[in-house]
Amino acid sequence: MSEELVVRRISNGTVIDHIPSGRALKVLRILGITGEEGYMVSMVMNVYSKKLGKKDIVKVEGRELSSEEVNKIALVAPTATINIVRDYEVVEKRKVELPDRIEGILRCVNPKCVTNAPREAVHPSFRVISRKPLKLVCEYCGEYLTEEEVIAQLAGT
Ligand SMILES: [Zn+2]
Repeated sequence: MSEELVVRRISNGTVIDHIPSGRALKVLRILGITGEEGYMVSMVMNVYSKKLGKKDIVKVEGRELSSEEVNKIALVAPTATINIVRDYEVVEKRKVELPDRIEGILRCVNPKCVTNAPREAVHPSFRVISRKPLKLVCEYCGEYLTEEEVIAQLAGT
């Protein structure tokens, strides 16, 4: 079955393609989309892909992603391609790019880290020290964060 048949075209919004299979929900979570915002969201998981074998696709009607959001997607879907659609035409293709620093969206796994102290107003921040596999280091305590931990946090488990 062709992709066009699996997910209908959108008129305006964002198509996130080439998501590693099974990670579409995590991408939605990163974008803060729960379904209650009213956007029309379509998602397919585990469709055939020449490049990846299997992939997920997410389409969000009526919402264009910011560059910051695109970069966050890189944490769970480094292979993703992002197309901005206006009037049924792709007007922009963006590549996800993992930033060198990740601020605010992940927490440190070290319970004694200052970023986990309830009375300290310190935002967690991490430096990316490896992209494949993903590995981050806390800038405050030096604790490592692995790809599995990043995904577990973003999946909200
Ligand atoms: Zn830390």
